[in-house]
Amino acid sequence: MTKPQVSEDDLGFDAAHIWHPYTSMQNRYQMFPVVSASGVQLTLNDGRQLVDGMASWWSVIHGYNHPILNAAIQQQLGLMAHVMFGGLTHKPAIDLARKLVAITPEPLQQVFFSDSGSVAVEVAIKMALQYQQAKGNTQKKRLLTVKRGYHGDTFSAMSVCDPEQGMHMLFQGVLTEQLFAPAPQSPFSGAWQPDELAAVKQLFKQHHSEIAAFIIEPIVQGAGGMRFYAAEYLAEISKLCNQYQVLLIADEIATGFGRTGKLFACEHAGVAPDILCVGKALTGGYMSFAATLCTEEVSQVISKEGVLMHGPTFMANPLACSVANASIDLLLEQDWQGTIAQIEQGLTQGLAYCSSLPQVADVRVLGAIGVVELKQPVDMHQVQPMFVEQGIWVRPFGKLVYVMPPYIISKEQLTLLCQGICNVITQLGE
Ligand SMILES: *Cc1c(COP(=O)(O)O)cnc(C)c1O
Repeated sequence: MTKPQVSEDDLGFDAAHIWHPYTSMQNRYQMFPVVSASGVQLTLNDGRQLVDGMASWWSVIHGYNHPILNAAIQQQLGLMAHVMFGGLTHKPAIDLARKLVAITPEPLQQVFFSDSGSVAVEVAIKMALQYQQAKGNTQKKRLLTVKRGYHGDTFSAMSVCDPEQGMHMLFQGVLTEQLFAPAPQSPFSGAWQPDELAAVKQLFKQHHSEIAAFIIEPIVQGAGGMRFYAAEYLAEISKLCNQYQVLLIADEIATGFGRTGKLFACEHAGVAPDILCVGKALTGGYMSFAATLCTEEVSQVISKEGVLMHGPTFMANPLACSVANASIDLLLEQDWQGTIAQIEQGLTQGLAYCSSLPQVADVRVLGAIGVVELKQPVDMHQVQPMFVEQGIWVRPFGKLVYVMPPYIISKEQLTLLCQGICNVITQLGE
């Protein structure tokens, strides 16, 4: 074997100087140096290969090092890597906006490009506030949402994350105080209990004069608990929003681009939001990029009073737009529904064994998302190396062991992934 790329000294420097997501600089988890990735496989510094179950947090839908996506970036690189978007425009951005307008629910017509999911959420909130202000609804300044949500790490996004079990409790008192309805209860595949709407209806009724928008992750609550809820819930929320002049913001940053079996999860409920956020899989996981779409109505009301007050430096980065265009084309030109259905079946079969284990509270699958919820939180120091030992890359949080693999995962790789998860969870009970 050739000399490892990352030395012990490098790892020591990393531990002493580099923040990783949600880490302490003192009580560090072991970091696994990765040197390359191709298809569904990550290659570690020591030569070990892991089947990736995470798609780098929902984003790498076509797998790593994809020749078509690589070519799209390389071609654009020869023209221009970046150019400011103030006063200038370019073909990659125009093509991408065309595609997004075409594939998202029909009323969404205007596109704002930004650099990350959290910023896309900030922009969505800003749109809602500017809309209500321009309408003369000057009291409508707050947001209504549901518990167990996750919308990002910037301040307005944090203000609508779960206030109790979320990652941002620390900032209570600093964050804008929003309104929280109970988390949706009826499961996606199960009986719809209309009674569960009582609390949220009450919130609408009592507070509508101060609510600018309702923000929610359609069908799948991701980082706030990996919960799949009934389409009826979303449909009813959409009706309540209309009734009370509250805008509906759908955060499809995790669910967008086919992950749940529909191109966008809103489609499960036949709902068209006023504002829609996409990110994560937008570029096939190649670059940090996101977009916020809004309806003609929202954009017209904002624009008649002035300008939308946002404009990031790297807005509509041409490399990101180009790879996003290639990624969307790649998705749409294949039988992605068939692919997702196969993964859903593979996950359902592969994880079924876990249901029988006493340490497991629930096993659920929707589209290309598989979740094993344990009764106790996992100890990350303990379990992360166990997954690597099984030859798979899975990164649990709290009580949740979950996967959302790249769509190109083979049947054999999916079997290996599920078996590895079952093995680790079995060992946890011993
Ligand atoms: C990941 C995520 C975000 C935040 O996106 P970043 O790119 O990490 O800023 C927002 N909303 C949802 C639903 C997400 O899954």
